[in-house]
Amino acid sequence: MPRPLQALIHTEALAHNLARARTAAPDARVWAVIKANAYGHGIAHAYAGLRAADGFALLELAEAQAVRDLGWRGPILLLEGAFEPRDLELCSRLNLWHVVHCEAQVDWLATHKTQAPHRVFLKLNSGMNRLGFTPSAFRAAWTRLSALPQVGEVSLMTHFSDADACGADTSDADAPSTAGRGIGAQLRRFAAATHDLPGERSLANSAAILRHASAAGVSADWVRAGIMLYGSSPDFAQHDARHWDLRPAMSLRSRLIATQTLEPGDTVGYGSAYSAAAPMRIGVVACGYADGYPRHAPDLPERGTPVLVEGVRTRLVGRVSMDLITVDLTPVPQAGPGSEVTLWGRGPSDSLLPIDEVAQAAGTVGYELMCALAARVPVAPEPA
Ligand SMILES: *Cc1c(COP(=O)(O)O)cnc(C)c1O
Repeated sequence: MPRPLQALIHTEALAHNLARARTAAPDARVWAVIKANAYGHGIAHAYAGLRAADGFALLELAEAQAVRDLGWRGPILLLEGAFEPRDLELCSRLNLWHVVHCEAQVDWLATHKTQAPHRVFLKLNSGMNRLGFTPSAFRAAWTRLSALPQVGEVSLMTHFSDADACGADTSDADAPSTAGRGIGAQLRRFAAATHDLPGERSLANSAAILRHASAAGVSADWVRAGIMLYGSSPDFAQHDARHWDLRPAMSLRSRLIATQTLEPGDTVGYGSAYSAAAPMRIGVVACGYADGYPRHAPDLPERGTPVLVEGVRTRLVGRVSMDLITVDLTPVPQAGPGSEVTLWGRGPSDSLLPIDEVAQAAGTVGYELMCALAARVPVAPEPA
């Protein structure tokens, strides 16, 4: 028997979550963001659930090739554009749309040989200060880009730094000042830099789609849905996935491969970090940090990282090790070797452990847990 750990992908949940993005931003086309191996779900599995999207957005050229190989003829957007001039050849060959965020990328286009002009998304740095032209350089970049024979349509985009933030407010989007921080200030900077330029626009990530899509200018022509498609809430713990009607697209499941009975004072795992206060049974789960489970997930009684055993909620005891974790079996006395364990996602008989709760306990976000899933974990669609 293979090691019992596996990640199951719920194709119908992906389709449901995509439909949620459409309902939230009904007038926009939806990019399904599938960078980072579709946030750990696998490009092919994600494609199966998301093929009703209007386009796929990603970073890695190999992933763009994979989407074309799956038969997708529609738009594909490279969210960071070319990393070197040679990448533009693949853009021409596979008809990839690409972001242009810096002067060098314009230079590369200017010397690129192509039959068909490229569709590009010119990126404004509206305050995130990672990628994009500053408001003062944006217009010159647009003018230069638009004049290139290598370029066809020029679209306009930016990325929000605070769309998930409590108190973030778009209601002041029409205020005259472009100073300040937050989504309102970023919207104003985008409007000021682009108001008289033609072209389609794309601004919103998942948090903006769910929280701000009805605010003027946020949904625009294309929204870029990432984390919400995978069933994690972009603004947890303000709102959980259920609040946004998102369904988990991944369940990480394993089994108990042993149990131990502890006497008071017995310890568990490396560093003897956990010590039993009273007699207790613990279960040993085939899953560890080499699978992507967070090594710093705490086992404190009041903040113990949640785990489901046979669908019953319990918690971690002892340190997470490379291949194993240990869990308290007190709430589930009938459990034994072979019992089903849910690390996150859906468990047996309608039980559910939201990935966001595991992430919060471990001091991180659902994004990181999904993306950190290790290559040794088999990923497969849930059997029908
Ligand atoms: C990853 C990414 C997104 C998707 O963000 P989510 O928070 O996962 O919805 C959107 N736009 C850009 C530019 C990205 O890099």
